[in-house]
Amino acid sequence: MSLIVQKFGGSSVANAERVMNVARIVTETSKAGNDVVVVVSAQGDTTDDLIEKAAEINKKPSKREMDMLLSAGEQISIALLAMAVEKLGFPVCSLLGWQAGFQTNSGHGSARIKKVTGERIRQELAKKNIVIVAGFQGINKYDDITTLGRGGSDTSAVAIAAALHADRCQIFTDVEGVYTADPRKVKSAVKLSEITYDEMLELATLGAQVLNNRSVEMAKKYGVVLEVLSSMVRSPGTIVKEKTKMEKMLIRGVTKDTNCARISVIGVPNVPGIAYKIFGRLAAKNVNVDIILQSVGRNDTKDITFTTSADQVDQTVEALNEIDFLEGIKIEVDDKNVAKISAVGAGMETHPGVAAKMFEALFEADINIQMISTSEIKISVLIDKADADKAVEAVHNAFIPEIG
Ligand code: ADP
Ligand code: ASP
Ligand code: MG
Repeated sequence: MSLIVQKFGGSSVANAERVMNVARIVTETSKAGNDVVVVVSAQGDTTDDLIEKAAEINKKPSKREMDMLLSAGEQISIALLAMAVEKLGFPVCSLLGWQAGFQTNSGHGSARIKKVTGERIRQELAKKNIVIVAGFQGINKYDDITTLGRGGSDTSAVAIAAALHADRCQIFTDVEGVYTADPRKVKSAVKLSEITYDEMLELATLGAQVLNNRSVEMAKKYGVVLEVLSSMVRSPGTIVKEKTKMEKMLIRGVTKDTNCARISVIGVPNVPGIAYKIFGRLAAKNVNVDIILQSVGRNDTKDITFTTSADQVDQTVEALNEIDFLEGIKIEVDDKNVAKISAVGAGMETHPGVAAKMFEALFEADINIQMISTSEIKISVLIDKADADKAVEAVHNAFIPEIG
């Protein structure tokens, strides 16, 4: 007998018909002789709707109350799915995050899992129940409800698979696997049969929403092999694991991230220590900086431009304003009109000319590059947001002969 963890995202449980569809998948898995633990997200756009409801009442609610509100979405899903499983005649038990033993730190809104005790899950499995756990939530040491950050149910599933040493961890979603680009945007995108943790982590961090990046990080840490597949179409998905068969692929995927901001500090003195002071302060404030560009300005000054995620803009500006020598210096912020496009693949490390090929594709599509950053596994460019989809398509299609 195997222990299988199956996670279903919001669109997979969006309405009664889809909840029944999920109930059929999990009961079939159980009927085949497996222990089944199911993790579910809130139905459809429930989490977004709850965020809107909060904003109607208070534009800056406390993070504790926000978590209390958002965790309600997953509570609805587990109960409805449990009822659907009951209807199919199988024993079932739904559990909230705290009941399942999800202990987290107190970082409301993006809490980190410290431990999954999983005791109650084991007890319910021993009673032959299909166990349905609310994703995205846990409890801190003060017994307050926490949430794990957007897309956090993927991490819940991986954490359970790791804690219970599950034989399989399947992430069911609304596409058939991990593709070389968002299949809803790029028609020629190709489904990958396998991808390494490192490549998947880059794709997820750089904007491929299909898996949450923390879940991939955790899967790598605990060696949990993931299978990403569709809840609607029965076909083999994508396996995410440590090593994949050598393929001749240069890049695995192209991503778009629109949650980014460009910040320029204009006219700082052109003397040693400036970058250290600026980025030291930002690091102390937990601001994640990505691409950095420094250029010489007029009259012995320089301009420093960098990118960060759009939701860290307030924090960033606050930190910059605390630096004395920046008093009176111009700070420009653009968090509305920029997007980051990235090409990801371990193969590019040993292949010269990948960057040139990407830049050529952008040039041919008449897209201006504002900033560039590279690592051994990715190349990212910052461009005008209005060009983002066109850019993904152009870069993807330039590499397509190498794919598949
Ligand atoms: P769920 O609700 O199941 O968690 P998400 O909406 O979080 O699903 O993630 C699935 C979506 O991710 C797909 O509908 C697809 O549009 C998007 N996506 C973006 N990039 C990729 C990619 N490279 N491969 C597959 N899907 C992608
Ligand atoms: N419901 C949460 C969200 O929308 C968690 C998830 O879907 O994974 O972000
Ligand atoms: Mg998701």
